[in-house]
This record gives sequence, structure tokens and C-alpha cells, in this order.
Amino acid sequence: MKKLLALLLALSLLVFAGGCGGSETGKDASSTLVSSMQNGESVSSAVKSEKPDEEPWYTTNITFTEDDLKAAKATKYVKPKNVIFMIGDGMGLNDIAIANKFSDFKFDIGLVLDQLPNRGFATTYSNDSAVTDSAASATALATGFKTNNGYIGKDPQGQDLLNISEIARSLNKRIGIVTSDLVTGATPSAFAVHNISRNNTDELAGAFLKMRPDVLIGNGYSDFMGVAYADDENRSLFYSVNRASTFGSFETALNNDKTNSKPFFGFTDFSLKSGDYRLAQCTQTALRRLENENGFFLMVENAGTDKAGHSNNRQGKVDNVAVFDKAVAVAVKYCIEHPDTVLIVTSDHETGGVVLPEGDNYTLDDVAFTTTGHSAVDVGVFALGYGTEYFNGKTVDNIDIAKFAISAVKGELK
Ligand SMILES: [Zn+2]
Repeated sequence: MKKLLALLLALSLLVFAGGCGGSETGKDASSTLVSSMQNGESVSSAVKSEKPDEEPWYTTNITFTEDDLKAAKATKYVKPKNVIFMIGDGMGLNDIAIANKFSDFKFDIGLVLDQLPNRGFATTYSNDSAVTDSAASATALATGFKTNNGYIGKDPQGQDLLNISEIARSLNKRIGIVTSDLVTGATPSAFAVHNISRNNTDELAGAFLKMRPDVLIGNGYSDFMGVAYADDENRSLFYSVNRASTFGSFETALNNDKTNSKPFFGFTDFSLKSGDYRLAQCTQTALRRLENENGFFLMVENAGTDKAGHSNNRQGKVDNVAVFDKAVAVAVKYCIEHPDTVLIVTSDHETGGVVLPEGDNYTLDDVAFTTTGHSAVDVGVFALGYGTEYFNGKTVDNIDIAKFAISAVKGELK
């Protein structure tokens, strides 16, 4: 029976080539099945989610060759209508260095992100601390204003700050948010909603329902279920989007709305390890759903580099940079095919205070952490597309990245 299901799924994957779907891991399968049945999700998606993760869809290879890199550099980019903003949460420059040196999951040509043509640095301090948290830094990156640690899209006085997604929407552009974290995590939240505290999960989920991004992919289905059932308006909003409660039901949900007439909310079970292409596949799916004549804004986050920093996990750092880089490669290829797209890759802050030893002949075990928290060091900015020479070889502040991205969304880049 399992083999039959695997075969059926493999066939459906061939039909929906490159799609973002897949399996529920065994651990959560039974609870997913129950919640799926309770909430009226299709039986076929519930059956799929019973399967262990043996099908290969998220190992579908994302390639990136020397020719792709040459094309990325040779393409004549034009004034953008699309902006892709990618954040390695807690991903420091030394994380990128050790991923380049030790990852067995990087491309043959190495990591793509730090080979983008325009590269610089950014300071990350918040309004009330030299060491930012993800809420204040994501608010800075999404709005162009500094705020206090813990605040989501609010200034230090508690007033709402307009974010880049709201600006994009006001221009009839589509909005996408893809994260390996909880959707209500600090980084994705600051790119969509407003709250005085990153910890007000229910309020953040409710605000996401009202904000209705065109694509929303990440962890935290149960956060949304709780909020949807506590409030009639939220409930009708939740049931009016095309949604999937597990990876296993992504394809069914996406195929149910071939005309792309509704927002797509895809809830997942991301816990990214080396060899995992899910973030890249979901980035690809998001780009496909967002493409339209007015343009779009897409934010993609990998939270794993932050988590690995907090737990002082060297291999976790290496693996998560490489996993994130697969998603970056998808975005770079999109820019080559759509030269009216700007790509910015950066970090909200560094986590773990990673220090490299002297010389080149070190092992991963020689790499040291100096904290289990965040550090105040500058992060990298890697960019591709029209006007991104702005970042090359200099240090900007994180709010300057936002100002550039907002100008790009508005079509106001010089
Ligand atoms: Zn953190």
C-alpha cells in the first residue's frame, strides 16, 4: 500500500513538475490527519499525509552552473517591477565562509549568494540596543525605520510603520511571504503586519488573515486554526483562501486553483537539513503564483541559521546556509529570465558570534562560538539587478536596504 501511494505521488509530481508539495514527516502525521479531517480538508490530502517521507519530491534537484552565473552577470537588467528580498536569519559572514568550506550540499561552483555581482555590508543595531532582535531588524528591513527590540512594524512610540508589502499592494502588486519559521515569527510578521510584541501570536495570525498575502508559506497551521475558530470574521477569511495544512496537500491545493484566483496559504513542517530543497521549491512555487503584469514583492526567509547559532551548532550553520543558497539560486534564475526583477539577499543580524581560527587549514571543530545570542557584527548584502551597484563595496545601514527595496517596488530607482 505504501509503495502504491509512493508511486501515485511520484506520478502526480511528474504532472506538477517543479511544484512545491510533498510529505508530512511520520512524527506529526496522525495529528495532521485528525486536524485535516476535522477541518474538512480533502481526504486525499489526509491520506497522503499518512505517508512517511520516502518520496523524493523535495530532493528534486535545483541546479546552478558556471553558465548560469555568467548569465546572471551578463544580463542587462532594467528598471524593476518585481522585488525579491531574501533573509538568512542570524546568518553571519563567517557562516557563509564555513558553508563554502565545509558544506557537501553547496553547488559545484560554490555558494551562489556570495558570488552575486554587487556585495556590501550592513549595520544592524536597533533603536534601543546595539544588538538587535529579529523583530526590530525585520521592521527596519521592511519599513526603513529603526524600532525597539520586540516591536513588529511599529515605531518606538507604538505607531504603525508602513511596510514594503503594504506599499507593493497599494500599487496593485502581489505579495508573497515564504519562511522556514512560523509564519507568525518575527521576520515574516514584520513584512506584513503590526504589533507591539512579537509574542502576540494570536493577534499576529489574525492580522495575517486580514492582510491576506497572495502567497504565504511557512510553519504554524495550528496558530491559524485557533484564531480562525475564535472569531467569525477570521474564520470566513481563513476559509476563503486556497490553503494546505501540510506539505502533502500543497499540490492538491495549488491544482484546485489553477486560475490563481485566491491567495495560497501553505502550512508546512519545515525543519531544514542538508539535502533539503523544500525552501527552494517553495520559492519557485511562490514566484510562479506571484508573477503578474503589475509585479510583485516576495520575501523569503530561512530561520535555520539563527536557530543553529542559538544552539551553537556548527554543522547546522553550514547546512542551513547551503539550503538557503538553493532558494537564492532559484531567485537568481528568475532574475535572468525576468530582468525587471531586483534581488537582495541579506541577514537581519548575526547569531552565535562565530569566530574563525587563523589560516585556512582549520576543521569545522575549530570554529568557535562566542555567544548563544545575537551579536552586533555587520552582515553581508548581496544583490542582483538594476541599480544594485549601490550596495557594492560599501557599508550601509539596514534601513538603507529597505529604502532601496521600497524605491525598487515603487519604480523610483534612478
Ligand atoms: Zn535569534
